[in-house]
Amino acid sequence: MEINELQEKIAAMAEEFRQPMTEFLSDLIRIQSYTGHEKPAVERTLLELKQIGCDEVWIDSAGNALGRIGNGKRTILFNAHLDTNEVSDDSQWPHPPLEPVIEGDVLYGLGASDCKAGVAAIVYGAAILNKLNLLDDVSVVVMGATLEEDAEGFALRSLVERDLLKPDCVLLAEATDLTLRRGHRGRCEVHVRTKGKAVHASTPHLGENAILKMAPVIEALEAMNGSLPTHPIFGDGTQVVSLINGPHTPNSVPDWCEVAIDRRLVPGETAESIVEGIRAVVEPMGASVEIPVQPVLSHTGLRLDAPSFYPGWLVEENDLVVQVGKLTYQALWQQEPVVDVWKFSTDGTYSAGAAGIPTLGFGPQEEVYVHTALDQVNLNKVVQAAMFYALYPVIYQQVTGAKPN
Ligand SMILES: [Zn+2]
Repeated sequence: MEINELQEKIAAMAEEFRQPMTEFLSDLIRIQSYTGHEKPAVERTLLELKQIGCDEVWIDSAGNALGRIGNGKRTILFNAHLDTNEVSDDSQWPHPPLEPVIEGDVLYGLGASDCKAGVAAIVYGAAILNKLNLLDDVSVVVMGATLEEDAEGFALRSLVERDLLKPDCVLLAEATDLTLRRGHRGRCEVHVRTKGKAVHASTPHLGENAILKMAPVIEALEAMNGSLPTHPIFGDGTQVVSLINGPHTPNSVPDWCEVAIDRRLVPGETAESIVEGIRAVVEPMGASVEIPVQPVLSHTGLRLDAPSFYPGWLVEENDLVVQVGKLTYQALWQQEPVVDVWKFSTDGTYSAGAAGIPTLGFGPQEEVYVHTALDQVNLNKVVQAAMFYALYPVIYQQVTGAKPN
């Protein structure tokens, strides 16, 4: 099929699917799905994956919703997460957060922009692929991901390393406003601790005060800003002392003090390089350094606890995944896409940052509404994103030399 003819067929099919796609998205918004409690949203997604005709539908150990179209050896993974951040004050919302409200072309509701509209777009991208029978030697796996808000990449790591799904590339339907994204900074939590000697606060000269020992350490940590690793696209790494803790005994000299640091990373920094860099500064002052373990429990009861380290990543602009993304965009809309990087972190921290799997972002949602009371998505953009997800695997097959049909 010629690409023009295909473009028209995909556009028509996406328009045909507008209604069921909107209903699916509305259902997802009605279902509360905070991190670790995604089960009802996962079940709803599995139902939709069955309805669009997936060849296989399943739930993995970490409780991700999964559906496969096609039987090709190579796998393209479509990823968008089902969990949302929590509403702090719903009186700030123009409509109740769990009530999908459509005004004109815009659908409001919690998670519309992060990331349920992305889930609707990838499910219906796969639906178009299936209906038009466009897959040849590539399979598409659709992933309604869990645990992303609290521990991005953890559920994807489990799918790849525990359940052994090995994608050749990953597409992330996070907010990009229909532009391509090829990376983001990483983040890491670091704990720095000083030790003292506890005595009664009435005889401080007999003890050692861990809080006083921490004071110059905090100054030194702040002073590291400006000499952290830097990157031509992402700029400087940063670190902020964000929490302080100690024994909750006001009448003793404290024998320990701990601060938490929020560190933002550029691609290439590792857990070891971060700990080493901070240790070199604070160890001579008597402080110790570690990356804490983040406790993570899936809705299936699986513990995924792991160090609170989320590497940054950047895929080269001439990488195959970006090239196919550009060709797909050009074929659909006859213009060059904007190619950029994200401000926030995504499941790409695992796929590209840790596992080195080529990864690309493309989503209908707009970043400005993410985690706000104005959470919303433009439904025309959701239809357009579904078109992108339908055509991308076809172009991928062409460019990578699938057998001619
Ligand atoms: Zn997100």
